Amino acid sequence: MSHSKSYEFLLKDISTLKRVGQKTKKLLKKKKIETLFDMLWHLPQAFVDRSNLINVNKLEIGKIGTIKVQVLKYNIPRIRKLPNTVRCEDSTGKIDIVFFNSREGYIRKILPLNEWVIVSGKVNFYNKKYQITNPAYVVSLEKEDFVKRIISRYSLTEGITEKIYRNIIEQVLQKLPVLPEWHDENIMKNFNNKSWKESILDLHDPKVKQDFQSNYYKRLAYDEILSSLIVLSQIRTKIKKIKKKPKKFRNKLSKKIINNFSFKLTKNQIDIINEINKDLSSQSKMFRLLHGDVGSGKTIVAIIAAANVIESGYQVAFMAPTEILANQHYSLAKKIFIGSNIKIDFLTGKTSYLERKKKSNELKRKNTNIIFGTHALFQKKTEFGNLGLIIIDEQHKFGVKQRMQLSKKGGEDCDILVMSATPIPRTLIMTFYGDMDVSKLTEKPSYRKEIISLSKPETKINEVLNFIKKEISNKNQIFWVCPLINESKKLDYEAAVKKFEYLNKIFIGKVGLIHGSLENEEKEIVLKNFLDKKIQILVSTTVIEVGIDFPNANVIVIENSNKFGLSQLHQLRGRIGRSNMRGTCILLYKKNLSEDAKKRINILKSTNDGFKIADEDMKLRGFGDILGYKQSGIKEFKLADPIHHDKLFKMAEMNIREIENRKQNLKKYEPLIKLYDKAEIINQID
Ligand code: ADP
Ligand code: MG
Repeated sequence: MSHSKSYEFLLKDISTLKRVGQKTKKLLKKKKIETLFDMLWHLPQAFVDRSNLINVNKLEIGKIGTIKVQVLKYNIPRIRKLPNTVRCEDSTGKIDIVFFNSREGYIRKILPLNEWVIVSGKVNFYNKKYQITNPAYVVSLEKEDFVKRIISRYSLTEGITEKIYRNIIEQVLQKLPVLPEWHDENIMKNFNNKSWKESILDLHDPKVKQDFQSNYYKRLAYDEILSSLIVLSQIRTKIKKIKKKPKKFRNKLSKKIINNFSFKLTKNQIDIINEINKDLSSQSKMFRLLHGDVGSGKTIVAIIAAANVIESGYQVAFMAPTEILANQHYSLAKKIFIGSNIKIDFLTGKTSYLERKKKSNELKRKNTNIIFGTHALFQKKTEFGNLGLIIIDEQHKFGVKQRMQLSKKGGEDCDILVMSATPIPRTLIMTFYGDMDVSKLTEKPSYRKEIISLSKPETKINEVLNFIKKEISNKNQIFWVCPLINESKKLDYEAAVKKFEYLNKIFIGKVGLIHGSLENEEKEIVLKNFLDKKIQILVSTTVIEVGIDFPNANVIVIENSNKFGLSQLHQLRGRIGRSNMRGTCILLYKKNLSEDAKKRINILKSTNDGFKIADEDMKLRGFGDILGYKQSGIKEFKLADPIHHDKLFKMAEMNIREIENRKQNLKKYEPLIKLYDKAEIINQID
């Protein structure tokens, strides 16, 4: 039966199956199994071979044995803690079947006196006798075939035995519906036309080798990838369908700004500015990601976009993940817009109630043109008069859902520009950002020199200190990072304080300290001192990781560098080398680097290309660990793996483009979306 709604069967609650009562339901829920469909992705961990009947005298201790025996006599001691045993035999020898915690009636029922039975379980040897304790199966001879098999074994939740679990999964597999095929013929060729149902059966079949390159596996992985891309594509097309008032501007303000820069924009920056301008002046809502490596100059691009939006009479909200960064953007804007009559404001979680009320009022009355801040910008209480653009910087902590909420927040006429430097392996860009149009900023300002990266054991810290002395006498500045290792803020803080004290003894009066528990004003003072070159060394925790821009700091020392992911180190390193001076990144490590850590440090030394680093990082650590993945809100794949299945990811990207270009009706993908996406993000197909 291949009925268009046949998938609905799979969305039924697990308790509709036989033998699944409230207790089992609860236990399965712990494993995130609620529907029949969920059950399918809980894969066999191993296979138990119960297929050979063995004579009792051939049993091997410690292994699973399946025997056919006759029940001889019971030994029911009626003393708590002592087990009940049942003596059985075949023509070759005797064996005890031992039961802890079981009632006599039950034992007599499953092992009737003088009857022949099939018993399967782990064999042990006790008191010079073979025993099977708490056997997995005791069945009558008619059910021999049910037990005498290679059986898939699932990692079990406490309270669910192999037998019960098997009973449940087999009910699902037996009733598995035939689903109408959703993939195009040319796609199906790649999997030798394996249907969804055949593939699921293979996945659970102990006789089929578990191999992620086999047709059944690839097909199922492809289902996952494509469904997530379809959902993202749907979000994107839906947002684009929202009609807005086009923004009208003549680039007067932005040209003035650009002329005031001390540098020329790169071609890449100019192209993207044009792309954004086209979006702004179009009738559909912009939902664009500006994806660029650290230091590629994204902020300026965003500010130019902001200028155009302001010129067309709208307000702009510019949000950053940390106060420090928000503050830096705010200061930059004040400099850039100096001499114009543009009203700039700043708001964070620490803004006092009264202040906030005042600021909010100004926004509502359209007196403020652009406001910088943290997520506090978007609390319910803040109202905008006519918000026309939301800019979000360093957005890797935002998931798809949050982005969607954001797109609604500003109202219909509000465009959205998000920026990220999170290096993502090429394979995953669509999976992460398929809901947005993407502009890629890869070109770095031409005068930049490659950063030199080197690693040193902490025992050679004197060499590092000598190097720093030289740098300071050359008027350079230094970041000294003691990144968070313990999840504890306190320890993190102490490490930084200790280092500060140590360095301040050597470089008296030249060292500053900044960490997460400092008050805002204190942070600002320290940062300002650093910016004004009153201090030469800034000791910090990872608060400096994202975004901030100190072009004069050209050395970064990273402690415990072996403890960090490549992408994170790349972000940290991106704080330097932002001017025409050559930057130096010193990776300090405690002695005894693991092979893996050596590899990672070598990759970092060999390239400054964030995307390449992300690719390598993923290969080393697996994609579950790459920066931002966990917070990204993208669905976790059950089978698909960007490393093993990168071809499938590419194929799905082409597939989705075709679907979009053909403006194809998505009806045929309905079962796929309904099953795989649930209502997690969207569930509407139209
Ligand atoms: P990111 O892309 O990491 O956010 P920023 O926007 O902070 O980078 O820019 C990094 C530095 O490069 C800033 O000091 C900025 O003024 C400078 N910059 C940006 N664009 C250019 C350019 N075209 N030429 C030279 N310097 C630039
Ligand atoms: Mg930035």
